[in-house]
Amino acid sequence: MAGCILVLNGGSSSLKFAAYAVPLAEAGPLLRGQVEGIGAEPHLLLRDGSGAVLEERRFPAEGFDHRAAVLHLHEGLRGHLGDHAVIAIGHRVVHGGDRPAAAERVDAALLDALAALEPLAPLHQPHNLAPIRAIAGLAPALPQVACYDTAFHRTQPPLARSFALPRALSAEGVRRYGFHGLSYEFIAARLMELDPALAAGRVIAAHLGNGASLCAMQGGRSLATTMGFTAADGLMMGTRCGALDPGVLIYLMDRHGMGARDLEALIYRRSGLLGVSGLSQDMRRLRAAGTPEAAEAIALYAYRIVREVGSLAAALGGLDGIVFTAGIGENDAATRAAVCGGCRWLGLALDRERNRTGGPRISAEGSAVSAWVIPTDEERMIARHTLRVTGLA
Ligand code: ADP
Repeated sequence: MAGCILVLNGGSSSLKFAAYAVPLAEAGPLLRGQVEGIGAEPHLLLRDGSGAVLEERRFPAEGFDHRAAVLHLHEGLRGHLGDHAVIAIGHRVVHGGDRPAAAERVDAALLDALAALEPLAPLHQPHNLAPIRAIAGLAPALPQVACYDTAFHRTQPPLARSFALPRALSAEGVRRYGFHGLSYEFIAARLMELDPALAAGRVIAAHLGNGASLCAMQGGRSLATTMGFTAADGLMMGTRCGALDPGVLIYLMDRHGMGARDLEALIYRRSGLLGVSGLSQDMRRLRAAGTPEAAEAIALYAYRIVREVGSLAAALGGLDGIVFTAGIGENDAATRAAVCGGCRWLGLALDRERNRTGGPRISAEGSAVSAWVIPTDEERMIARHTLRVTGLA
């Protein structure tokens, strides 16, 4: 029987998964899918490697939590995996704190250590750990590996990781960590294949999905990023406002009587493209809507990226290339055009036709700063780490 790696990515109301045959080939996963709407209207969608739907199912909301989703996958995937047995499971874990490794084999002590980081990422970490616990109960001998979204940023210099707060707070861990690290690690490796000279230079990668951030890389290592202590900082996102004058929060507490949970809902779920447009967090819907509010949201989205590109270019001491990735970065040519237009002063000249067709290189011949579209693949990065850590490669 052949082996495969199962990758799990638990979100607040979803569980994404993908299975990769071992050894890892260039080809896509054997299957991938997600259970969405956990806690509301649970819905499983499972596709094969070519994207064809293998299974679609709804579950009653009552009692169907992350653990139930894992139980269902544990049983249900067997029928679709044919003669591939799951030999290890890799998990995306949003926060690795100060742990020195990028990925680690899970045991009880590590689970405790990762659970202790929950206060640093209360909206994500518990949902990342729930599937690990469920599998440990179901199949204790199956190797599990935790892959950290913060790990790629460990190479940042201390200045890039600091807030100008009293030292005691920094010592307690209140500082910039950065996220989307598995995506940036994949992009850095892919850029090394596409253009090794550029990969050795100064590059800004723009992960523009529902969450969004920029990462300044030099020689494929993270030097600075727009996300900070939490995934709420930096760019405007689907439903998050990004960087916000901290005085606004104090004003809202004083004048609107808002508490911590109200502020959390405001900055994580009611702001960003959704809040400004008053319509949707989804870029496709905003493009189709064409209302002045949607146009303003889209314009602010690009403006914030351009401003932060300037900041990271300063941190890098110049810029050689910019890479667009994730849902909006890979698919929304108009956002790429707006951002590249705002980066002309850096020496970036866009090739409009290449941008329309999606690259990979979308800058004009002779552009001092090159621009690229590179699809990210965080699940494959997790599968690579899982194989390396378990020694199964
Ligand atoms: P997540 O962070 O949830 O993984 P994605 O990387 O899938 O998110 O990105 C979701 C965003 O990508 C949404 O705003 C969606 O509208 C946008 N998107 C996806 N496809 C397109 C497209 N063809 N054109 C414009 N935007 C797109």
